[in-house]
Amino acid sequence: LFDKSPPPWELVAAEETAIARVVFSQSPHGPYDYAIPDAMRSHIQPGSRVRVPLGRRRGGTMGWCIHVDMAGKSRHKLREISELLDEEPLCDPALVRLVLWIAHYYQAPAGQVFDTLIPSSVRSSAGTKQKTYFRADPKDLTEEIVAGLSPKQQAVARILLAANAPMTAAQISIQVGCTEDPIRRLHKKGLLSSERRREQNSGMTTRWQINDGEAEKTHHLTDSQSDALKQINQAVESEKTKVMLLHGVTGSGKTEVYIRAIEHLVKFGRGAIVLVPEISLTPQTRGRFERRFDSVAVLHSQMTPAERHFQWQRIRSGEVQVVIGPRSAVFAPLPKLGLIIIDEEHDGSFKQDTQPRYHARKVAIARANSLGIPVLLGSATPSLESWHATRTGHAERLSLPDRVRDRAMPDVQLVDMRIKDDRTVGAISRPLHQAVQETIHEKGQCILLLNRRGFATTIQCPSCGHVVACPDCDMPLTHHRDGGKAMCHYCDFCIATPPWCPACRFDGIRYGGLGTQKLEVEVKARFPNANVARMDSDTMRRPGSHQKVLSAFRSGKIDILLGTQMIAKGLDFPNVLLVGVINADSALHFPDFRAAERTFQLVTQVAGRTGRGDRGGRVIVQTYSPEHPAIQAASRHDYIGFAEDELINRKKYNYPPWGSVARIIIRGTEEETTERIAEELVGRIEATRDLLKHEIRILGPAPPPIARLRGKFRFHALLQCPESGPLGETIRRACQDFRIPEKDDVQYVVDIDPMDM
Ligand code: ADP
Ligand code: ZN
Repeated sequence: LFDKSPPPWELVAAEETAIARVVFSQSPHGPYDYAIPDAMRSHIQPGSRVRVPLGRRRGGTMGWCIHVDMAGKSRHKLREISELLDEEPLCDPALVRLVLWIAHYYQAPAGQVFDTLIPSSVRSSAGTKQKTYFRADPKDLTEEIVAGLSPKQQAVARILLAANAPMTAAQISIQVGCTEDPIRRLHKKGLLSSERRREQNSGMTTRWQINDGEAEKTHHLTDSQSDALKQINQAVESEKTKVMLLHGVTGSGKTEVYIRAIEHLVKFGRGAIVLVPEISLTPQTRGRFERRFDSVAVLHSQMTPAERHFQWQRIRSGEVQVVIGPRSAVFAPLPKLGLIIIDEEHDGSFKQDTQPRYHARKVAIARANSLGIPVLLGSATPSLESWHATRTGHAERLSLPDRVRDRAMPDVQLVDMRIKDDRTVGAISRPLHQAVQETIHEKGQCILLLNRRGFATTIQCPSCGHVVACPDCDMPLTHHRDGGKAMCHYCDFCIATPPWCPACRFDGIRYGGLGTQKLEVEVKARFPNANVARMDSDTMRRPGSHQKVLSAFRSGKIDILLGTQMIAKGLDFPNVLLVGVINADSALHFPDFRAAERTFQLVTQVAGRTGRGDRGGRVIVQTYSPEHPAIQAASRHDYIGFAEDELINRKKYNYPPWGSVARIIIRGTEEETTERIAEELVGRIEATRDLLKHEIRILGPAPPPIARLRGKFRFHALLQCPESGPLGETIRRACQDFRIPEKDDVQYVVDIDPMDM
């Protein structure tokens, strides 16, 4: 599993000693063995943080203990651990096992995985203060000694003796009516003992008040909801690992099933984790859980470090029944975890795009395996991985085929944008324009989806053809109207939009392509009497702005809500009578084997936002490829048809879920050097594959779709194998002692089960 060669200390005769194996988040990552001093033996455990000497670094280095052997043998003289940093380990043994599994599977240093698992606010004890407590022992402070003290010191001594409990200097001085001076003097004389304790700052709020004027009703479950619930409850009670996929169309009441399942397991004193995509973590979702459970912890990205630490402590104390959060909540330290639920399990945000590049679904299943508990995945558009798992017996399928309250799925109309009659000047076709008008006339609400933010997606000179691009990424800049900025959406590069062509000075540069800002201008011009709001990451920068727009929409103050995929997920508003998809093809022609799947998901999800009330709903999808199977299937609400066809397509090329894929990305400041090193690395992988006789197909190295990013040239290689084990082994072996000279300034990353190409 690990490189076990210790640093070259002195060789000694092997002798029995207590040994701890320690890993580090910074290079060198270890693991290295250290001797455990006698005083630490009864406290140290796997998961403990320690300070140890490492190389020549002064003051020692913080590391994580992953293994303890009280009767270890070492042929080397080991250095000793200098300090044990936590009274209780921050990770229990099951979480330590999970860390080691992630480190192995995703090929990341275990120290880095610990740092991902334990929030930095917990490591630094954010929001707590060190306080000094004083205590008096009657054996030291006899009546005789007390009588000989100054009057203030006597008063301090008497208060402490009477209290018979430790007190802070502030508490004592208030009671005595003195400064802290006499307390310090007594302490200096050795008449008082002291201890330091960490305490939570006061004033921490336990809960956010959710009040959106909605009462959470307990519904009478539909037959398919009851059937699904029965299966889930059985799995929870059986205390066995089982993966279940709840495939329920949009509006079929999946959340109600989650809530009932948790209500059931809470009766056994167990808790649950509910993972949701970050942008679905709306007050609406939160409210539904907070109204039904006494103790909910919501983890989200806008928490202060102190809040995060506080919630972590609450969760760990066992007080919390339900934890809701994005992918990192999969690590929530509930002591009696009974179920992990992943809502919208197909969502791309469950994969982390920095090291360790884990997928929360995979980690959830690994964690559940080690605890013997079930995992419940839910979606209207399951990932093909999860769908395939139900076909091979790795997961059980539960279905909610219909919407609740006999509501029909909305009608979907495809508008072929290649036909002139449907096209008008601008982004909105005649049929869509008419539908919006009718909807507003009927006092209904509209949602318009366009998956591009900004105003114009290209800035091009009509005279010489020059496209204004990012100097660091080579990608076209997007023009943003607010402030007239040209921005790179791949890095933070931003300039004032040039008024003339930077190449030929032609005065009359054109803004091409459509972003949400331009759409907003057009919609406002077409429907001057409607209230229009835009929701994309530009308008949602400030905390709370999300909630503000959604509650305005709920109350009917907004007629047309337009935005990026942010508006495609989870929203449940009965008065939405129309959903318009401005350009369904935007994700279709990406060089990525998941392009069709993404398109199907996006169209289905946004279509699901309508028809949720008594007045029905309809969907208009504008597309240049109306015959594409993904768009056809989405228009028929036919997930199974789509999935089965797409599985056949993937099989042809052995793409997931049929086989495993790994991606290696090599990046560097110099193109030639980067390419040379990429070739070298891929060559090693080839050699290792041949040596191990594994069936691995290697594509590349070649420039990826984004060939330059943040000033670095990029190359990538895609590796395919029928199974994940041999693939991982080959990469691990090939990379084991692959060192790149520092002067070349080239780095590489290994991405196991990549989600982006
Ligand atoms: P999904 O997550 O599958 O899209 P939701 O759980 O959001 O569906 O449910 C959609 C709506 O239906 C919610 O407003 C919910 O309160 C309501 N609902 C859920 N179950 C029932 C039921 N059995 N009877 C009536 N309404 C229900
Ligand atoms: Zn850039």
